[in-house]
Amino acid sequence: MTRRTQSSLVPVLLVVGLLFAPMLSGCATMATRDASSGKAKNVILFIGDGMGPSHFGAAWLYSNRVLGKNLKMVELMNAGHTAYLVNDTADATVTESAAAAGQIATGQRMTARAISMAADGKTPVRTIMETVKSKGLATGLVTTSGITDATPAAFAAHVAHRSDEASVADQELKAGVDVLMGGRKQFFLPEVSAGVRKDDRNLLDEAEAAGYTVVSDAEELSAATGSKILGLFNMGNMVYEIDRASTMEPSLADMTSKTLSVLSRNPRGFFAMIEGGRIDHAAHRNDAAGMIREVVAFDEAVGVGLEFARRNPDTLVIVTADHDTAGVALIGHSKDSKEYVGIDLAAIGKVTASFEVIAGQLGKNPTPERIKQVTKEYLGIQITDDEAKTVANDTIRKLDPANYSYPYLHSLAFVLRPYLRVGWGSQTHTASPLWAFGLGPGSAPLKGLVHNTQVFDIMKTAME
Ligand SMILES: [Zn+2]
Repeated sequence: MTRRTQSSLVPVLLVVGLLFAPMLSGCATMATRDASSGKAKNVILFIGDGMGPSHFGAAWLYSNRVLGKNLKMVELMNAGHTAYLVNDTADATVTESAAAAGQIATGQRMTARAISMAADGKTPVRTIMETVKSKGLATGLVTTSGITDATPAAFAAHVAHRSDEASVADQELKAGVDVLMGGRKQFFLPEVSAGVRKDDRNLLDEAEAAGYTVVSDAEELSAATGSKILGLFNMGNMVYEIDRASTMEPSLADMTSKTLSVLSRNPRGFFAMIEGGRIDHAAHRNDAAGMIREVVAFDEAVGVGLEFARRNPDTLVIVTADHDTAGVALIGHSKDSKEYVGIDLAAIGKVTASFEVIAGQLGKNPTPERIKQVTKEYLGIQITDDEAKTVANDTIRKLDPANYSYPYLHSLAFVLRPYLRVGWGSQTHTASPLWAFGLGPGSAPLKGLVHNTQVFDIMKTAME
């Protein structure tokens, strides 16, 4: 082909190109459209409360090396999209759960302790759950903490301070959330029925009258057939996963499974928020084994969501955290190691109780002998007399009570450092960046650095 004929072809090709451009771009769109674009009928949002990157890392090591299986979160991460997530708020660089969950639920920066309220403390900010509810979709909130605790509350309630949980309970039911599961039944019952409500109302009776099936243990949950379920499994928080076997409480995976089967009956779709609420609580107490078991239980619930999404590809699954709790560090050395040995997963696997149970066993003023005894019994670790004295003196808490507030537990965790090789920056939340993993329609924007307010945008855009 000569240069002349080449150049004379250019206008022809241009015209052809213009004529076919819409078709070609349509083809290109089709070619690039994968499962992460398009619209979502359902959204399942998993929040690991307090699950920072090292909580995840510890659970990943434990799952692979002790349980012999990978985390479902890794499957999701590999099949979908991953973003680095930051979470600063309107008034702080370190957030608590109310502001963090409010930012995810509304897309607006929030102030500490308020539940989905504008900075004036009086003006409710509309949440993603309220928006989808108004369009006729089904909704669900599930947690292992209290169903009236800040994370679930931020999706369906508006109160000036998160401690107003009696009002949150009332608002969650009034909002008509189809599935509500978790602990803190006390906020649904009047004082005469061992609850804490001052208005003498029994919200369990009211919920039943409003069409809810009210259940209180794993068996009742499994048998429930209604399209609206209120599951309250403990007067306080649900028990830690590490302590659960001797109770009648369902696992987070059980609750997730039931929730998805109930909500998916709605032909318009659903929005569910499933929280691993006690990862945070274990981390606050510097409880390594308790925290890891909570993340693994959370991961099993994510597995249920992932399986649902495989059967229902019009489902957007997002897994993230609200904040890091306690700055976990998986440190290197044992007492006598010359080389890095890292976290002692076998020792963590042998722990039989949460630090909450251990604190109860220690009692108010434990002697060094009692501390040695309890540590041996529940952790299988023989600490020295000097170490037991450090715990009995509660040295760590005395040095920095603002950041280490639980009696004896932080001193115990410090003494356990060279045994378990897990260190703790504090008992408080930290500003550590987090992860967000997403799979399914609308998950593509979960990449790079994302602020947690953008998680709202991603869910909203996917469901529009
Ligand atoms: Zn917390």
